[in-house]
Amino acid sequence: MKYSFNPPYAIKRIFNDFIWESSINKILLTFDDGPLPETTPVILNSLNKLKVKALFFCVGNNASKYPSLISDIIDQKHCIGFHSSQHENIRKLTVNEFKFQLSDFRLMLKEKYDYNLKYFRPPFGKFNLRTNKILKEADLKNVMWSLLSFDYKNDLNLVKFAVDKYLKNNSIVVFHDSLKSIDIIVDSLENLKEIVNKNGFEFGDPSECLK
Ligand SMILES: [Zn+2]
Repeated sequence: MKYSFNPPYAIKRIFNDFIWESSINKILLTFDDGPLPETTPVILNSLNKLKVKALFFCVGNNASKYPSLISDIIDQKHCIGFHSSQHENIRKLTVNEFKFQLSDFRLMLKEKYDYNLKYFRPPFGKFNLRTNKILKEADLKNVMWSLLSFDYKNDLNLVKFAVDKYLKNNSIVVFHDSLKSIDIIVDSLENLKEIVNKNGFEFGDPSECLK
């Protein structure tokens, strides 16, 4: 499945228990693929300046390698979701492998940070009915998106175009906590904030956007 800026309506209809949009008229900001020492502090600093709370979909291996960044994200009142152990296509995992990944990450967050995992996002947006069932059984909300910023293409003008054309008052927006977008991420976030203000929209806290 290949996604454009906004995933196709048919997919949203079939997987209608996934979350594609904010449940209230507020914008949810999400960051995939971190944490990384080169990027996460830069993003946290920018979010702090813009006064926005975000949801970070973390890769398990990165979270294990950089525990202080997980602490920083939690301490600064942002949220953490899971994005697989090694950023793999979860359709290629066995049921047991996928279940183990979920329980392992959940336990790590609970034991090290006393943090309850509630959200998951599949790498590459790839999932199927089987992974859907496992997520349901694990009581994890599968958080998709309605605006892919394409920030990983490292082209600020493309991000500006995406936001200008597709941002709505209930969008779930995807950015990346990754080296691919680090050169443009601060400008991208400042641009987003400007567009949000210009349209009279507002950002929401992850928990209120995902009720
Ligand atoms: Zn990813």
